[in-house]
Amino acid sequence: MNSTPDGVVNWGFVGASTWAARYLIPAVRAVPGSRGVGVFSSSRERGEEFAASNGLEKAYASLGELLSDPEVDVAYVSTTNNLHAEQAIAAARAGKHVLCEKPLALSVEDARAMLAAAAEAGVVLGTNHHLRVAPTIATMKRLVENGAIGEVVAARVFHARWLLEELQTWRLGSPEAGAGVVLDVSVHDVDAIRFLLGEEVAEVTALTANQGLAAAAVEDSVMAVLRMDGGQLVSIHDAFTVPHAGTGLELHGSTGSLIGREVIMPDPVGEVLLRREDELEPVDVGERYPIYERVVERFDAAVRGDGEPVATGEDGVRSLEVALAIRRSAAEGRAVAVSDDASRT
Ligand code: NDP
Repeated sequence: MNSTPDGVVNWGFVGASTWAARYLIPAVRAVPGSRGVGVFSSSRERGEEFAASNGLEKAYASLGELLSDPEVDVAYVSTTNNLHAEQAIAAARAGKHVLCEKPLALSVEDARAMLAAAAEAGVVLGTNHHLRVAPTIATMKRLVENGAIGEVVAARVFHARWLLEELQTWRLGSPEAGAGVVLDVSVHDVDAIRFLLGEEVAEVTALTANQGLAAAAVEDSVMAVLRMDGGQLVSIHDAFTVPHAGTGLELHGSTGSLIGREVIMPDPVGEVLLRREDELEPVDVGERYPIYERVVERFDAAVRGDGEPVATGEDGVRSLEVALAIRRSAAEGRAVAVSDDASRT
């Protein structure tokens, strides 16, 4: 089940999305042994235009048509967030491996159903939390594991930016599609922190705001504090409304701090600095390889039975449950224990 007969992994794209066009399709094209086959869009016309402009042979008229194409091994699901669960479950039941965009779903229950469908079908399910293989974050992980900053006691993550003009659609205006900065960005922060610290989030307390960019019922700004199982405190600040703050991730340890600047990004940009008392020295992060090519390489390898995707389905469930706990904490004005959160099943 977990290998393709000719060794080539063929990708079908569920959703004529910006992210597929900008990152996943170019990555699939660049990775040897990987091939893009076709796209399914809910609009025939958009699908055909998308296929032509992205070098894909096929534009499928329905999801069922894509899923019954024996040429397709992997479904990359990058529709709006409300559609992920249903489409990923259908793909798994059709025997396709699934790389699903974050957030996996809008509820933990749906996300768990996706994992169950993939397990039952014996297919690989991954979540597209790409930051784990960013050269900067991967370097920070190595340094933490090598004890470069001693015991980590605190962390700060921020992705407070002005939302790009071309992304100012359902993310701002459509709660039913899964709008809001928490599901869009905080899930990535949570995954990066879980990865770097090797700990789960125990408890969250958060405030959200609508600062006028998003529709009235949608948060476009959040500040949250997480308490990890290991006792570390982590602050998160994400926004669509802050033009000049940039992005960053800092890990503060007993013998030093790692300062990552512009590291919560889709491209291999940014820098890492090691700070000890007042001394600040740059860290060599190595080759600046395209992050999404690593994601595709690791997913292809998992399909061939070698290892796991960069982030698994379980990782996607964990980041979603923390994101939902953040929202609930903000709505209810109280700290929420992630394991007790009613939105987690
Ligand atoms: P888009 O808004 O570009 O696409 C989402 C859906 O919107 C498409 O599937 C498409 O439907 C529909 N759509 C696209 N263009 C139009 C149009 N002109 N008119 C009407 N509908 C249109 O979304 P993104 O690429 O920004 O995000 C897609 C997914 O990827 C989301 O789940 C998001 O969270 C995730 N994402 C992940 C990132 C990461 O860092 N891992 C970064 C950015 C996004 P149809 O397919 O039916 O044509």
